[in-house]
Amino acid sequence: MKTVLIIGGGASGMAAALSAAASPDNRVVLLERQARVGRKLLSTGNGRCNLTNMSCSPEKYHGEEASFVMPALSAYPPEKILGWFRSLGLITVEQPDGRVYPFSDTAASVLDVLRFALESSGVRVQAGECVLSASRRGGRFCVQTASSVYQGDALIIAAGGKAGGKVGGVSDGYELLSSFGHRCSRIYPALVPLHTDTDFPRALKGVRTDAHVRLFGGSSLLAESCGEVQFTEKGISGPAVFEVSRTASVHGGELELDFFRTLPHSEVFALLRQRRELSPDAEAGNAFAGLLHSRLGSVIARAASIRPSGLMKDLSDGDLSLLADRAKAFRLRVTGTDSFDAAQVTSGGILTSEFSPETLESRLVPGLFACGEVLDIDGDCGGYNLQWAWASGLLAGRLSR
Ligand SMILES: Cc1cc2nc3c(=O)[nH]c(=O)nc-3n(C[C@H](O)[C@H](O)[C@H](O)COP(=O)(O)OP(=O)(O)OC[C@H]3O[C@@H](n4cnc5c(N)ncnc54)[C@H](O)[C@@H]3O)c2cc1C
Repeated sequence: MKTVLIIGGGASGMAAALSAAASPDNRVVLLERQARVGRKLLSTGNGRCNLTNMSCSPEKYHGEEASFVMPALSAYPPEKILGWFRSLGLITVEQPDGRVYPFSDTAASVLDVLRFALESSGVRVQAGECVLSASRRGGRFCVQTASSVYQGDALIIAAGGKAGGKVGGVSDGYELLSSFGHRCSRIYPALVPLHTDTDFPRALKGVRTDAHVRLFGGSSLLAESCGEVQFTEKGISGPAVFEVSRTASVHGGELELDFFRTLPHSEVFALLRQRRELSPDAEAGNAFAGLLHSRLGSVIARAASIRPSGLMKDLSDGDLSLLADRAKAFRLRVTGTDSFDAAQVTSGGILTSEFSPETLESRLVPGLFACGEVLDIDGDCGGYNLQWAWASGLLAGRLSR
């Protein structure tokens, strides 16, 4: 009988535990520092858990060597992950954009089936056990917590990344793997709200709208995305901003927002002329009435240096064209990102070049495995991070048999 120790009872650690426990030769011990396993999972997808994405491909992943994901994703593509969840009793629903959610629309259902499976497969779950150190002596692993010492023949480190501090993101995984000689790349918060010049966003706090978001470094387009954006006290957030946040986190840059992505400039201009005809005595701050959120309309007027309290009838065609310009290219300088606590994922991590992509076993320490976010892999928004957590966890658990 072989003992497999797993550090971290998050998505990848639970998948690894179930995979390892599928072999009758393994005794599996899952060590989790929080009071219960899967705490972060409950917060995913705004409590709905976007557990995978059917359009998963290696291009959705980032890291110094992003192709590292390929063997795990080939062994466990989304269809197989859904089949695995189905075998645990979870049914799911696919959205038109490929995102998959539990049929119940609640993340608790995903955690429930995992917890029941851990129980029925005999995995010894030790929650409230924070691993302080791990070492390898005489071919065996020795893991120290505040109150106990655990010995094992194989060790899987699934301790996650630093993102989502309030739901369990810590640096422990990087430190534990570094103690075995592994190196860590620089880590950044990703899928995170951005801080920008605050002049305009502060007045817009809470406003949500649709936009085409482009991130520029000088005149070069660094990243772009379309979808919902939300203004915050310190800048801007929302799914479309998350998509470019990884690049902004590393390179900074300037955001350009197009609030009329489906309409050309000429059409926005024509709509503004119509407003001037319909409401000549309205204030210029209402130029976008019927088109955009009222606060956003006023802020665009200010950005175009047009006095919001002036009258529509006093605006020239040149003024209206300028308003259309600003609405289609509203610029905000990125000054930073929110903290790891507000981030959904960590970009960077333990160097993948020091692990075998086929087995996830360390090239430095035989019998040591790593999976999930602790490795230098992060995915786009849309279920790709959990897909990596499940796939890499199942792979690490399979090959530690
Ligand atoms: C708010 C939020 C929403 C998200 N939504 C989505 C989504 O909808 N879809 C998606 O694909 N991704 C989402 N993500 C990202 C996704 O949750 C993570 O990428 C994924 O959980 C990583 O899995 P993991 O097992 O590597 O790490 P985690 O799930 O973070 O698990 C690591 C576990 O290790 C434990 N641990 C750490 N140190 C120790 C130690 N010393 N001893 C014992 N245990 C330890 C932690 O307590 C934790 O339970 C979201 C993240 C956040 C923060």
